[in-house]
Order: sequence, then structure tokens, then C-alpha cells
Amino acid sequence: MTPASSFVTHLESAIEPGVLLPHHVPQTLHAGRPLWVRYDLTAVASAMRKDSLLARAPTMWRYRELLPVEDDANIVTLGEGMSPLLDCPALARRFGLEHLSIKDESQLPTGSFKSRGLSVAVSRAKELGLTRLAIPTAGNAGGALAAYCARAGLEAFVFMPEDTPEVNRCEAALFGAKVFLVNGLIDDCAAIVRAGVERMGWFDMSTLKEPYRIEGKKTMGLELAEQMDWSLPDAILYPTGGGTGLIGMWKAFAELEAIGWLERGAGKPRMYSCQSSGCAPIARAFAAGERHASRFENAATIASGLRVPAAVGDFMILDAVRESGGEARAADESGLVELMSEACRLTGISICPETAVCLGVLKQLVAEGKVRPEERIVIFNTGAAQKYIEVMRNVEVPRIDRNEEIDWARLR
Ligand SMILES: *Cc1c(COP(=O)(O)O)cnc(C)c1O
Repeated sequence: MTPASSFVTHLESAIEPGVLLPHHVPQTLHAGRPLWVRYDLTAVASAMRKDSLLARAPTMWRYRELLPVEDDANIVTLGEGMSPLLDCPALARRFGLEHLSIKDESQLPTGSFKSRGLSVAVSRAKELGLTRLAIPTAGNAGGALAAYCARAGLEAFVFMPEDTPEVNRCEAALFGAKVFLVNGLIDDCAAIVRAGVERMGWFDMSTLKEPYRIEGKKTMGLELAEQMDWSLPDAILYPTGGGTGLIGMWKAFAELEAIGWLERGAGKPRMYSCQSSGCAPIARAFAAGERHASRFENAATIASGLRVPAAVGDFMILDAVRESGGEARAADESGLVELMSEACRLTGISICPETAVCLGVLKQLVAEGKVRPEERIVIFNTGAAQKYIEVMRNVEVPRIDRNEEIDWARLR
């Protein structure tokens, strides 16, 4: 059974709880800060049963009642979701752990978890009659917006730093977006989008500046719970840029709790927000005990998805992390390439540099006894390694000349 309309009741200001806004019209921020999408969870609980999921397609739209689209006809999908939760025993041993799993988002459309958020955001944009969508991006969000706009027949305008990984530039252009390279960082791109909203008739699809991307990201948490038979791990490590992934998952766990779907006594995980020492505004604010993060100057990291010097949802990330008993931490930038290749070798999974950041943080947590060997740990692999040609290019591959006698000793 799918509902004819959504169970959304309203939107609520995240910075001023109790301030409600209607969801039938396009919304952006309130008081300069993001909005939560709220549902009639009592109605969801009676409309949706665990066993009704069994007959549904293996995409994130199986959680239809917890998603904000009114009319099924407006759903813009490329089959995203139900990424595998893979047990990684060799990697676990390497870190001195017994249970380490990776939820592999590299297998999603456009090769990153960004497709979840943009599937929902573009669906809602279409439903609300928006036609020209603009986005500032550190890379993967631009490719995903371009793909979902291509699918929906909408226009996409993508603004990215000029040193964004080449594949991100190419994919966005390939899907027909108008792509622009900016000599600055993602917040410089965001300023251009903001300035063009009135003048160019764009709708601003920036992270957290429209309310629906979180709802798509939330499905990572719903899937994880379903894949773990409605329990949750002891700790989750998640790479943090703008923060939608971590915020969305924490919202998912609260909603599952509210509809009574988590097994009795199943605690919620400690959430670890992971950044690189090259761009660590959230980790820095956490260490200082602050609720808002100041801009991180001269941000530079090969984990390009995390190159977000200032996040409009900083307090939402920090609130979730603190409420969960977790931490926001930075891994050393200089160790990322080695961690990424080691993790690829030990798992066969296409691990991105952002996930290497989580491994760097995991190493610290284990060394400090903050993660214990018998705990169940889940790391999200948010994107595919092959999108980072610039990082992978360092690998030395010997050539063979077919006209010369083979030197077999070199092939050992
Ligand atoms: C965008 C991105 C992130 C950061 O995600 P947020 O939800 O914005 O914090 C992490 N990894 C990859 C590969 C990304 O593209």
C-alpha cells in the first residue's frame, strides 16, 4: 500500500523549535537556519507495518510513508538505495576490532550517497513547480543534481570550485547541467547562487537550504536499521561536510523510535562526525564546547566532499553528536591516501578519501579505548574511489613492450 499523499504535517525551524511553516509552498531557511520536515508519526505507525516492506522494491522509496512527496507521479528516481551492509573482517582485524561493517554507498546512482538527498529534493522541487535548480557543490552533489534534473526534465545550474575533482565536473556536464568553475571554495559558489535566485529565477538547492535533502539522507539510517533487523550498531562513523548525512540518520533513528520499530532495549549509536585536519570546523567547535562553528580558513583536503569551511547546519550536527554520546574529530590529512588504499586492499570496496577520514578517526578512538574491540561499528563509504582520479593517479603501473622479450622476474 502506498499513500495517496504524504504524512507531512508542516516544516519546523531547527533554530527556533515551535516556529512552524507550511510545506505546500517552496521553503528555504528560517532566521538564516534550516527547517525540519515533520510527519504525523502516529498516522505513519498505523499505516506502515514492518512486514509490508517485504513486498516492496529494494530502493529507498520503500519507506514511502516517511518521505515527503505527495503524489507518487512526482517521484524522480534512478533506483537509489538499499546499498549493501558489508562485513569487513580483515579491516576489522587491522583495527583490532571484532565487528566492523561498511555500508557501501559507492554503488548508488552517480557513485555517491548524494543521490538519496537529491532524489527527494528534486522530486519535491518538481512537485512544487520549480524548474530551474541551482547548487553550489564540493563535487558529488553537482553530479547528482545534474542526473536527477536530467531524469525529471528540469534545468540544473552547478557551481563548483575550479579544483573540484575532474570526474565531478565531467559528469555534471554530461548530464546536461550548466556547469561553472569558480576560483574559490564552496561558500563562494553559494554566494553566487544566492545572488542569482531573484535575478535568474533559480531555486537554491544548497545543502540544508531546502528542507528535503535531509529526508533522502535519512533513508541511510532506515536501511541500516532494517538490515540489522531493527537494531542499531554501537557506533557509527560518518564523514562530515555540510552534515546532511549525519543529521538525517539521527532524525531517522528518532522517527523509528517514535513509530515503535526499534527492538526493545536497542540503544541508539554513538555518532562520530569525522573531518580532515585540512578542514575541521565541526571538530574544532566540538573540542571548544561550542554549538556553532566558525569558518575554517584555508580549507584544503583530498577528501573534497568535506571541503566545507562553514556549515549552515553546524548546530544540528553538533547537537546530534552530543546527544548520541559521540564526538566530532579530525583525522590527519597526511595519512589519508595510505588509509584509502589499505582499506581498498583489505575489503575490495571502492573506498573514497572521505571514508579514509573515518578510518583515521577510528584509529584514534581505538587507541584511546573509546571504541572497544567487541563493539559493533559501522562506517559509511559515502562515495566511489574511481571518482577521485587525481588521488588514484599516483599508483605506479609498469609497462610491457610486446615487441621485446618479457623479463619474467619483473612480473613477480
Ligand atoms: C558530500 C559528501 C560527504 C559529506 O556529506 P555531508 O552530508 O554533506 O556532510 C561525504 N562524502 C562524500 C563522498 C561526499 O560527496
